Amino acid sequence: MALGDALNNEAARRYRMRCALAVLLERLGDDDATALRDALGQPQAFTNGQIERALAAEGHGHIKSYTIMRHRNGSCSCGSR
Ligand SMILES: [Zn+2]
Repeated sequence: MALGDALNNEAARRYRMRCALAVLLERLGDDDATALRDALGQPQAFTNGQIERALAAEGHGHIKSYTIMRHRNGSCSCGSR
């Protein structure tokens, strides 16, 4: 296998390791991503369910509250907040 192919495989593997929420954070515009990160960092102010509903209202209904919970506590596939 050529090195370029191996590197591409590594990049794809890392991409698959990230949870849906991490992928969404990368795809959102700066303002939305910042707002979402702020909300994720304030569990007292924003519950997982509230964030789920807000995301659904903005067309991101594939992000479920358990995905948000797992990302918040670091047990998701990307293993980070
Ligand atoms: Zn995650």
